[in-house]
Amino acid sequence: MNTLMTGSCLCGAVKYHAAAEPVITGNCHCRDCQRSSGSAYAPVFFVPAAALSIEGSVHYYESIGGSGAKVRRGFCPTCGSQLFAVAESMPGLISVRAGTLDDTSHYVPSADIFVSQAAVWDHIPDTALKFATLPPAPPTR
Ligand SMILES: [Zn+2]
Ligand SMILES: [Zn+2]
Repeated sequence: MNTLMTGSCLCGAVKYHAAAEPVITGNCHCRDCQRSSGSAYAPVFFVPAAALSIEGSVHYYESIGGSGAKVRRGFCPTCGSQLFAVAESMPGLISVRAGTLDDTSHYVPSADIFVSQAAVWDHIPDTALKFATLPPAPPTR
């Protein structure tokens, strides 16, 4: 299996490698991503869940996402870093926070979503493909 992308949490207790190219990439500016990350947005890429190998224990917190379906956000129970999310609305896929990549240049955001909820101090490039909430179809890379 070819390892394309690797990453870890802050303390190193959770490591992962994705053996597939991302199928969706984007920065989510929704309020849930702001609160859960403490930042302006969550940069995420989705890979097929079967292609992501996770080492270490991950705790998941469940909430109702912008689509109205359940979203489970996975974090390291030791250091609290957020790494993963599984959305009921996107079966078979798992998202990974791009800031946890060993080489962050592997992440290329294709769109900015939920920009209608962006903080006033957020910075979204004029050139970005933007959606007020969810895109009509998932943005592809
Ligand atoms: Zn950790
Ligand atoms: Zn979000």
